[in-house]
Amino acid sequence: MAARILDGKALAARLRAELRTRIETGLAAGRPRPGLATVLVGDDPASHVYVRNKRKACEEVGIANVHHELAAATPPAALLALLRALNADPAVHGILLQLPLPAGHDQHLALETVASGKDVDGFHPLNQGRLLQGRPGLRPCTPLGVMRLLAETGVALAGKRALVVGRSHIVGKPVALLLLEQNATVTLSHSRTEDLAGEVGRAAVLIAATGKPGLIRGDWIRPGAVVIDVGINRLPDGRLTGDVEFEAAAQRAAWITPVPGGVGPMTIALLLHNTLEAAWSPPPG
Ligand code: NAD
Repeated sequence: MAARILDGKALAARLRAELRTRIETGLAAGRPRPGLATVLVGDDPASHVYVRNKRKACEEVGIANVHHELAAATPPAALLALLRALNADPAVHGILLQLPLPAGHDQHLALETVASGKDVDGFHPLNQGRLLQGRPGLRPCTPLGVMRLLAETGVALAGKRALVVGRSHIVGKPVALLLLEQNATVTLSHSRTEDLAGEVGRAAVLIAATGKPGLIRGDWIRPGAVVIDVGINRLPDGRLTGDVEFEAAAQRAAWITPVPGGVGPMTIALLLHNTLEAAWSPPPG
């Protein structure tokens, strides 16, 4: 295997240790303890696992966590009322509304109800608009995690051809904007793209975020490319795998993230980072 492995698990552990130190130092200097409210509606098993991991990570770094679990049958108005109460609570600096919401809830309305200054997931339209305009604001966690992994390689992004495969609001589009901010030459491809293999073959930096296991063939990768695989897909045998054919891609890439252990752990570390930002250096407005 030629590629160097970008170890997201190790980098995330380092980021958490740095955050813990910053929080201890800040508390000693009289700053308020950062607080994250987690809100989980319904009984989706994967969502329960994700929220449990986020709460555990809060505890590890010294962020206070208030957890709210609502039944799947909770009326949408009751969820919105809870979010407004959390907006008004001075001990809560960040609000994490776990998605997806059960049927009957308006996801966009719920995300828009979270105060933009407490929107540590970076999904509020105001924060997404600020990202589009290149102004300060809370950025989505997974895209931030991708950028931290890229920074870890030391590869300069300016002028490089970067391909993002997938155009969701959560991953693909914000990653493309963050790459553009770093002066990469960005292509955003998706399920209607003609000749995905050709696009991948030209990319010095490849970000895959489709949720299609093995969609990106290893022999498509441009030799020497940096490959970040955001996909998390469960195979019928229970194993997790990414969107990129890892073994074959690693023969050609210079850097590659594993799945699991790549982008996944970074997402939670950047959620903690955003909570600290919201608590101690809130963006304007
Ligand atoms: P999504 O379903 O909202 O979007 C998928 C995107 O992939 C779409 O834009 C679609 O156009 C594109 N796509 C689908 N088939 C394609 C094809 N054949 N060719 C090119 N593009 C194609 O998904 P999402 O929320 O952006 O998540 C993508 C993946 O990332 C999933 O596997 C998800 O589990 C994973 N994810 C991981 C993390 C993490 O923390 N590591 C966070 C969020 C999402």
